[in-house]
Amino acid sequence: MDYILDTEIKFLPGVGPKRAELLQKELNIRTFGDLLHHFPFRYIDKTRIYAIREISEDMPDVLLKGKITGFREVSAKQKRLIAMFSDGTGSIELVWFKGIPYFKKILHAGNTYTIFGKPTSFNGRLNIVHPELDDMVKEEGKITSSIQAVYGSTERLKDIGLGTRDISRLQSTLLGMALPRMEETLPSYLIEANQFISLREAMLNVHFPQSLDLLKKAQDRLKFEELFYIELSILRTRTRRVKANNGFLFSQVGENFNHFFHHSLPFGLTDAQKRVIREIRADTRSGRQMNRLLQGDVGSGKTIVALMCMLIAADNGYQSCMMAPTEILATQHFKSITEMLRGMGVNVALLTGSTRKPARRELLEKLRQGEIHILIGTHALVEDAVQFERLGFVVIDEQHRFGVAQRGKLWEKSEHPPHILVMTATPIPRTLAMTLYGDLDVSVINELPPGRKPVKTVHYFDSKRSHVFGFMREQIAAGRQVYVVYPLIGESEKMDYKNLQDGWEMITQVFPAPQYKVCMVHGKLKNDEKEAAMQEFVRGEAHIMVATSVIEVGVNVPNASVMVIESAERFGLAQLHQLRGRVGRGAEQSFCILMSGVKLSDYSRSRISKMCSTNDGFEIAEADLKLRGPGDLEGTLQSGMAFSLHIANLGTDSKILEYARQVAEQVLQADPLLSDAKNALLLKILHKLKNSSKDYSVVS
Ligand code: ADP
Ligand code: MG
Repeated sequence: MDYILDTEIKFLPGVGPKRAELLQKELNIRTFGDLLHHFPFRYIDKTRIYAIREISEDMPDVLLKGKITGFREVSAKQKRLIAMFSDGTGSIELVWFKGIPYFKKILHAGNTYTIFGKPTSFNGRLNIVHPELDDMVKEEGKITSSIQAVYGSTERLKDIGLGTRDISRLQSTLLGMALPRMEETLPSYLIEANQFISLREAMLNVHFPQSLDLLKKAQDRLKFEELFYIELSILRTRTRRVKANNGFLFSQVGENFNHFFHHSLPFGLTDAQKRVIREIRADTRSGRQMNRLLQGDVGSGKTIVALMCMLIAADNGYQSCMMAPTEILATQHFKSITEMLRGMGVNVALLTGSTRKPARRELLEKLRQGEIHILIGTHALVEDAVQFERLGFVVIDEQHRFGVAQRGKLWEKSEHPPHILVMTATPIPRTLAMTLYGDLDVSVINELPPGRKPVKTVHYFDSKRSHVFGFMREQIAAGRQVYVVYPLIGESEKMDYKNLQDGWEMITQVFPAPQYKVCMVHGKLKNDEKEAAMQEFVRGEAHIMVATSVIEVGVNVPNASVMVIESAERFGLAQLHQLRGRVGRGAEQSFCILMSGVKLSDYSRSRISKMCSTNDGFEIAEADLKLRGPGDLEGTLQSGMAFSLHIANLGTDSKILEYARQVAEQVLQADPLLSDAKNALLLKILHKLKNSSKDYSVVS
């Protein structure tokens, strides 16, 4: 017989085919089990009785106990029933607009009632409109609790009678049917060792908490379980990958690397850079395939690390490629790498969407012949026509800009998977990174090259613009260059381009030619125009670059010391931090000026003040995670996860996540194949979870 939780939701009493269809559409609830995993997003605590004296209109729903002392007369036209309610500490009014005859009949002056509702203020008095009455809270024979769950719903669902209370009623029905037959999902030895409550108890208490303590226990267990299975799945995939994929063996460090190291390297490496190169070196000569994430704040020098590893690949007869998210960045990498490798016999080529056909054909041919050692490019690299002779090492720069599927395609380019290094300046906690990006190993460059001064960040309202212009003038007079960045956001693209144009006009008026030279870069320019403008700025001919956030990634002009960000309130924290990373690359003191309107939401205010208070990328990433939750962390991250989350929150449950990973590691260490009888359940659940989701973890 089918397991009860796999039953289609339409068969639950109170649902039926029509509601079932909408439940699936709106909330992705298809089965009994899906409904059970539609967890409340908050709870209303009815375990505490408040005194009327304590309450105020800004409080959420409260529970009160007192007497109805009488009814206030209102004219028949007004159609409402008002009862005076008092508990000895104060009094308020209870108001009904509907069902007046019914409430007139059941409510009696002098009787005691327990009521529940949200205090509001009307004509200077506190009242509660349509309070719940105690005897209505309990429905005969149904599971209820004094801590009430609140469920996510949608307008369309509410329209057909599936608001939060209706969902709660369905949960009650469902639990009544399913609880006795619900099978445990964690092996008993894990339950015992961790003193978890049982699945049944947890499910009951997460939907209908019998006490705050049991609610906490239920949440702890369910969150652990969710994260534990993700970690278990990731760790198993990793073990199998390590076994199945023999990595290319880079057995030697040869002429290319050594020549570069001794003669071409323009500076000494930081200790962190050396450590990371050693970590990569150890991977590539281990016989295993490397799958490594390199985290390092903007400007920490990831590129040189990648380059030196590509030289080791070349030393061992392998080709490398490096994929960057924008054409500007790919071109810049190509130029700086070509420059650094000048005079060495390493062939570097550039392939982007705008590489012309004849040149492209020649390039692809050389690539197939193995004559090109390092290929740099944009996502044009993943196209099928791009075939290598011996691709051994893949670098993906600013990886958060790429979708999981795109990365996977590169991986498939050779029969044998090459070593993969993904680089990101979005520093997220280690365990979280491993969870989001699948089974990557993580390296961190936690040190900036010497001599960098921390960027000073300040916030100005738009009204202070002339002051900012004055400051720009001073900096330019001192020989520095300035970026002025405007937001460009999908939905409001037209408006944004207009703002950019207006801004450009204003700046060219305030900073007129021929004394000043201002250039502009944005996505609508033709490539050669974009390139010409970029070059003007890179060569130091232009004093000011007006741009959209296209320059967010990677661009490197050490002489630029001021970053002005217009409408800073519209940027996310990660983006602001990236933009700021464009300055502070030279020896001079650099500045980041955040401009905004006066009206700011709390969320925008916290982002801006975070930026002003720290330069630390990790701190910013953590604040970012807390402020908005990892759900939309750079959009594509969640799609990199093995299974979706229902109850755990990667932003706030990091302790549970760490612990779950540790337990998963222990389990696999003791029983790598999960072949012990006591682990049979783990295998079964993993299979089930896999079948119900797309598993990308192998291609991260
Ligand atoms: P990111 O990690 O943001 O990609 P880059 O690789 O672009 O940073 O490096 C930023 C700048 O720092 C580049 O100009 C690079 O040449 C320089 N750089 C990298 N490593 C060092 C170092 N060890 N000492 C001095 N400068 C360095
Ligand atoms: Mg970079």
